[in-house]
Amino acid sequence: MIKSQFSKENQDIDIASRVMSNIATNDDDNENTLRPHSMAEYVGQSKIKKNLQVYISAAVSRNDALDHVLLYGPPGLGKTTLAHVIASELGAQIRVTSGPAIERAADLAAILTNLEKGDILFIDEIHRLNRNIEEVLYPAMEDFSLDFVSGKGPMARSIRLPLKHFTLIGATTRAGMLSGPLRDRFGMMLRLEMYTPDELMHIVTRSASILGISIEKEAAYELAGRSRGTPRIANRLLRRVRDFAQYENLDRINLEITKKALALMDVDELGLDVTDRNVLEAIIDKFGGGPVGLDTLSAATGEEASTIEDVVEPFLIQLGFISRTPRGRMCTKNAYEHLGREFTE
Ligand code: ADP
Repeated sequence: MIKSQFSKENQDIDIASRVMSNIATNDDDNENTLRPHSMAEYVGQSKIKKNLQVYISAAVSRNDALDHVLLYGPPGLGKTTLAHVIASELGAQIRVTSGPAIERAADLAAILTNLEKGDILFIDEIHRLNRNIEEVLYPAMEDFSLDFVSGKGPMARSIRLPLKHFTLIGATTRAGMLSGPLRDRFGMMLRLEMYTPDELMHIVTRSASILGISIEKEAAYELAGRSRGTPRIANRLLRRVRDFAQYENLDRINLEITKKALALMDVDELGLDVTDRNVLEAIIDKFGGGPVGLDTLSAATGEEASTIEDVVEPFLIQLGFISRTPRGRMCTKNAYEHLGREFTE
């Protein structure tokens, strides 16, 4: 039964690729349980943590709000988690919303006027804020004030409402899509890096103990090495492998069941899944190895251009399997070798 669930039928390919996607799904419902709550628990990203610790302690000793922070990087690397950690280190309240959830400028104004001094406002996917809504943020971030017009026609008056000193933490997968004026108003722009296998192993071991499962060191390392440098994927693979272990009545996750489960999920030894291989094979087989433009690649693979750009490509670039040139994406010799194809210059 397990086999057919993870076979190569089309629908099942979809299941496998969702397991490896770094975008949050309903399956990640218990993500909150696994989220670290303090800097000490937050694994990796040491440069960012060091910087933040300095800024946080300076803000606390001045009894002032922290400067606005922009966190950027691919999904699943810990931006939301870090925003919560910052709030808890500051002992501040955090309000959470997202770019697409704010539909009207008045909604954002209502959120801003309800903030207390030192509160954190976290806006996920901030690049998806509407431009006219974004403009409300400019004076709010810069002068802690809200500008609005009261009345109409000759009676119209511009009114400035003061706001409490708050900290905006924005998160985005695409810093480049943020408008210049918005980007300029962040005092800190922090780019989250992919995690090393050692860091991911630490995360997997911690998550296993929270979930109450025992995992052997080799098994944790195997999972870590196949998680595309992404904690969300590491945690998700852990949960799936736990299902396999329970199905086989094992009381502890060992290397054998881990490898078997990953093979059934079509995750290869580097952590590539069906979607990754489809993209690489399309570049090689349909476009002679590239260069090929993003939209053409999207049409050839049936994957959304944004999925290729945000989810698939960052890891393939990190592995050195794809290079981005002004004329489009190209597969490198390493990609040919990984797929067992012959490379010709
Ligand atoms: P993002 O907001 O960047 O999409 P999240 O903050 O939601 O990512 O992280 C996804 C999951 O990965 C979290 O639930 C958390 O359990 C785990 N995670 C992320 N970063 C870390 C980290 N540095 N240490 C431990 N676990 C992490």
